[in-house]
Amino acid sequence: MAVENPLLGDPFPRSVFVTGTGTDVGKTVACALLCRLWEAEYWKPVQAGTALQDMSEIVRLVPVVSVHLSRVTLDEPASPHLAARREGVEITVADLVENAPEGWSLVVEGAGGALVPINDRESMADLCKALDLPAVVVASTGLGTIHHTLSTLEALRARGCGISGVLLQGDAHGENARQIRDRGNVAILGRIPRMYPLDSQAVADLARRWAEEPWRDPCEEDTPCALPIIPSRSLVERDAEVVWHPYTQHQTMDAPLEIVRAYGASLFTAQGEEVLDAVSSWWVCNHGHGHPKIAEAISTQARSLEQVIFAGCTHDPAVSLSESLLACVPGNQGRIFFSDNGSTAVEVALKACVQTAVRRGIRKPRIGALAEAYHGDTFGAMALGERSVFSSAFESLLFEVDRLPSPAGCWDPRSRSAEAATENALEALRGWLDRLGDEVACVIVEPLVQGAGGMKMFPRSYLEGLDRLCQEHGVPWIADEVFTGFGRTGPLFATSDVPGAPSLHPSAVCMSKGLTGGFLPMGVTSFSRDIFDRFLSPSRGDAFFHGHSFTGNPLGCAAALASLELSLSAESIRSRLQLEQWHRRGLGSLERQGLIEGLRVTGTIAAFELPGAPRGYLATRGQEVAKACLDRGVLLRPLGDTLYLVPPFCLRETQYDRILNALEQALGTPGA
Ligand SMILES: *Cc1c(COP(=O)(O)O)cnc(C)c1O
Repeated sequence: MAVENPLLGDPFPRSVFVTGTGTDVGKTVACALLCRLWEAEYWKPVQAGTALQDMSEIVRLVPVVSVHLSRVTLDEPASPHLAARREGVEITVADLVENAPEGWSLVVEGAGGALVPINDRESMADLCKALDLPAVVVASTGLGTIHHTLSTLEALRARGCGISGVLLQGDAHGENARQIRDRGNVAILGRIPRMYPLDSQAVADLARRWAEEPWRDPCEEDTPCALPIIPSRSLVERDAEVVWHPYTQHQTMDAPLEIVRAYGASLFTAQGEEVLDAVSSWWVCNHGHGHPKIAEAISTQARSLEQVIFAGCTHDPAVSLSESLLACVPGNQGRIFFSDNGSTAVEVALKACVQTAVRRGIRKPRIGALAEAYHGDTFGAMALGERSVFSSAFESLLFEVDRLPSPAGCWDPRSRSAEAATENALEALRGWLDRLGDEVACVIVEPLVQGAGGMKMFPRSYLEGLDRLCQEHGVPWIADEVFTGFGRTGPLFATSDVPGAPSLHPSAVCMSKGLTGGFLPMGVTSFSRDIFDRFLSPSRGDAFFHGHSFTGNPLGCAAALASLELSLSAESIRSRLQLEQWHRRGLGSLERQGLIEGLRVTGTIAAFELPGAPRGYLATRGQEVAKACLDRGVLLRPLGDTLYLVPPFCLRETQYDRILNALEQALGTPGA
């Protein structure tokens, strides 16, 4: 026998007070559905913040509804008692009751949860009681539902409110429903499934189904798992059959770590072990893993606008991020172009420089790049990088670049001094520009640290010399800050102004890695006003021809904005200085013991070599040391026999000491 829908039975009161287990649990949708089902009128007595928003949402969802004006509307998005106090308004339950609309069927929507304060004494539950309406409690199914719902029921009962029952919102979860029914001694009135798109049509359809079809008891419902997952085999076994990992020889690889959670500097494996992430997960998780501020920013953004075509449309996250970034990069920058990752950020800079060069009449533009450079893995970025085992297969297809000497001779104990290396590199650059400057589209450098090429470091004086020479020759230069950006080298950017030193004037700055704090893939390229202006013309044919499907993704922008705010905080600046000191002290001691050599530190980046080990990316001693460190709970990722620490800024001193101890033991163990 079909059970009757408890919302439709005759004795059921057609006037209710709708409250929730919290804000954002779907009270307004529940109200819309009840109004539709009962042809009831709607009243939200107190509306704070988004003035009139719930009222217009109700009208959108149920166009035929009759809506009564709120008694109190407050501008500030805060608890009613607080917003009212700030706006000098007094709200009392007595006044609200006196002004309640009359109606044989009325749905009253409370603000927030049952105990939300109306003034210093009274809450929404008091209003419910005073209106003498039974409460319908809206709860969204998920983690915490049972606790939140039972607490709400107890609070309502303690104030003498009558309770109609609980309306669940979201996925079917029979266990939740049964627990709430039995422990709360309450009727489960129904379950409102996620509606998509959520509009008047969806609400009307659901109301019609509830009125016409047999009632489904939420306590008996469970959503079956839709994906064919074979749970009996381990994740690592399943991985081995379907996934292709980057830079990985699958025939000889070790089993990957199964990571289930990460927080701060720690990764947690499925086996419950903690591993310190000493490389910020390929240099992207600058602040540490799982920062709640960034998580929150993404989640909030996802609920309003997740993505929109960025040609012909714009949005606040992209404009705000552009403004904020331009306030941080060198002062001559004037425009932000969005893409998806570090390689595309480089491609964008390169293509813009080449397109302007061709427009200036250079038929075959030349490009200058440093020895040992790395700028990414796409074809253009790969062509800019030093040729290596990474690129040898593609050699014949890579375009030619003019390879300029790197100033990063200073790190190698066997090479000359930093000053001499810098002078030398600048001399070579000057000669090249004097000879070929008229044909050059751009020069690209990784400022201060050549990362993937072996963490090779050089002084700012090289950048100042390069900047001067390029300005003299009217040649644009690109700062590839994909790795060095967002505090990695200490200051926000490697090209940031330094007191007492000349400012730098790159034509473009490439950013990615730390941009979103490691939460989402995104790249941006900033351009000088000068470069941007060269694309202005009445002809569409002169526009910059580049774009990606996900250009300006709002989620990435929201993450980047939150991350940038963290990077600018005094705490982050202090942490970065601290890391540099720990590197110098701790690794300096290992060097004095002869365990490492060639130690170099720039900001939060420290790198060194292993004494007596052969050099090159495929050398194996670095791998062995990394393995020995992993056994001691520390994740490293050597570049051949160059080892480096690029820790998240949130690393604690005790954690740093653990990394140092692991290294010391791994290095001191013969054969490890
Ligand atoms: C990592 C890196 C890139 C490439 O970034 P992806 O996001 O891996 O494509 C480019 N330039 C530099 C300096 C990098 O360190």
